[in-house]
Amino acid sequence: MRIVIGSLSHESNSFNPKYMSLEDFSPAYGNDVLSRLREDGRSPLHGIYKVIQSCGAEVLPTIFARATPGGLVSFEAYQTMKEGFLAELSKTEQIDGVCLHLHGSMVVENIGDAEGDLLTEVRAMVGDGVPIVTSLDMHATITERMMEKADAFAGFRTAPHVDTMETGERAAQLLMDALTKGYKLSMCGVGLPLLVSGEQSESAKPPMVSLIRKMEAMDKLPNVLSSSLLLGFPWVDVRYNQGTALVVTKENPRLAQAEALRLAEEFWSKLDQFKFTTAAYPFAESLAMALNAKRGPVCIADCGDNPGAGGSQNIVYPLQIMLQQNLRNILFGAIADETAYEYCLTQKIGSSFELTFGKLNIEAGAPGITAVARLKHIGNLGKTPAVAIQVAGIDVVVSKDRVMMLDPKDLEQLGLRPKEYRILVLKSGYLDPKYEAIASYGLLALTPGFTNQDFAALNYKHIKRPTHPLDQGFTYDPHEYILPSRSK
Ligand SMILES: [Zn+2]
Repeated sequence: MRIVIGSLSHESNSFNPKYMSLEDFSPAYGNDVLSRLREDGRSPLHGIYKVIQSCGAEVLPTIFARATPGGLVSFEAYQTMKEGFLAELSKTEQIDGVCLHLHGSMVVENIGDAEGDLLTEVRAMVGDGVPIVTSLDMHATITERMMEKADAFAGFRTAPHVDTMETGERAAQLLMDALTKGYKLSMCGVGLPLLVSGEQSESAKPPMVSLIRKMEAMDKLPNVLSSSLLLGFPWVDVRYNQGTALVVTKENPRLAQAEALRLAEEFWSKLDQFKFTTAAYPFAESLAMALNAKRGPVCIADCGDNPGAGGSQNIVYPLQIMLQQNLRNILFGAIADETAYEYCLTQKIGSSFELTFGKLNIEAGAPGITAVARLKHIGNLGKTPAVAIQVAGIDVVVSKDRVMMLDPKDLEQLGLRPKEYRILVLKSGYLDPKYEAIASYGLLALTPGFTNQDFAALNYKHIKRPTHPLDQGFTYDPHEYILPSRSK
């Protein structure tokens, strides 16, 4: 058997005006995809590759491209990657199936729904009879076009996402079982008209933890193959933004619909339970609580400017508050500011100089902070070039580009000792498990930025209404939200 694999993924925040470029994705095509898989560890595409290989099928790699969440993907960058992908796909012959990993919430300048567009092109090339199965992020937004072009989707079930490779494996297994046992896949999706942030829906905490148990029980029902709750991505103002309850069955569209409706109803009955899973306060209050802690480090997530959800990662408003209070033994970062980073490179380690960096708010010409900085270290934060500077008593990481705060060990590359600080103020949403492990406890600071948790403050114009929580208390009938499907 011959199976096409590939992955093009991005989580696009429509409030961040900076478009993503081709460079941000560093795409690999054809056989180069396989070496990228080895470098990249536990990606969904790696899971897809492993399962297809273990079934003895021939793997036909096409594309592997992904970037840190950010603004919309520029039309040019998307077109280049799409053409590269389709060129690889057009070289393949006599294929039996297609297994992809897409994010589900990638939005392209002037196009919108990237996954719908890609799946339309793939379907047109491979024809109606070749099954297409795709793994998706838990924060995927499912569109009618996506449903009409693909045979099955399988979404991550954990947030923070620790089941990425396993979800790729699940998707590939769905495809390979259907092909080897000779049945068709049926799928039904039911829309959930809401905006919910990851910080209100962590999978280890209620209500997601019980909804995941429901899905596990559903998957054991006769002829049910896979169920997913795709929560959508709140920081994108497009008409089709919503969550989806989705079920895949063995050749049984009626069963898929009945179970997807049941899952949607179950989800909606718990709507009131979607609350912050970590204590959440405005920044000044979070800081006051952290300063009272007996043991450090307390991790405060500056979640309004979270690069993990497309924030610009350059808002220095929390630092302004901390500087006003003359605090010590605190780390803040990373601030993505290429100009400030480059300026630091011209200075000597240990020297002090005036530096302007970051922005105080999200307005286009907003001022930054100008302060005396002492250069402590030049190095990297993960793979991203960065410097450590000291401003008054606070250590600040300034990076060349946006970079997610995934591992405290990355800070050690900059000569910093994360466990020894009293407080770490991190550009992050919910804490990544490696930070959780070193934190005495975690707090969410409700800060301004393109990932503001106060959705009402973001001025949505295009999303269809009613949508919870912009609209409250409306009646939800899941039957009115059944998405079209290609399964007859
Ligand atoms: Zn996600």
